[in-house]
Amino acid sequence: MYCCECSSEVHERAKICPVCGCNPRGITSDLAGGTIAGAYLLAVLFPIFGLIAALYLACKKEAAHGVVVAGVSLLSMVFSFFLLASSLVAL
Ligand SMILES: [Zn+2]
Repeated sequence: MYCCECSSEVHERAKICPVCGCNPRGITSDLAGGTIAGAYLLAVLFPIFGLIAALYLACKKEAAHGVVVAGVSLLSMVFSFFLLASSLVAL
């Protein structure tokens, strides 16, 4: 295969291009799928921690997931706020 950064030939299983030192497959994260799934779960169950997880994902070059997790966290926060408010009104 060829490095996507410098187009030199690298080994199929090479994680780093020997010529330019970049990842020959381009920017891929080293995060497991479980970590991302966990971040989504946190966003739904514990929005505060979801926001922290979103920042963590953004740092780990998973900005797209980070934005979605942050959005889900905010939605979950707003939802629980209205749930709390409506239950207070009912009293
Ligand atoms: Zn290269």
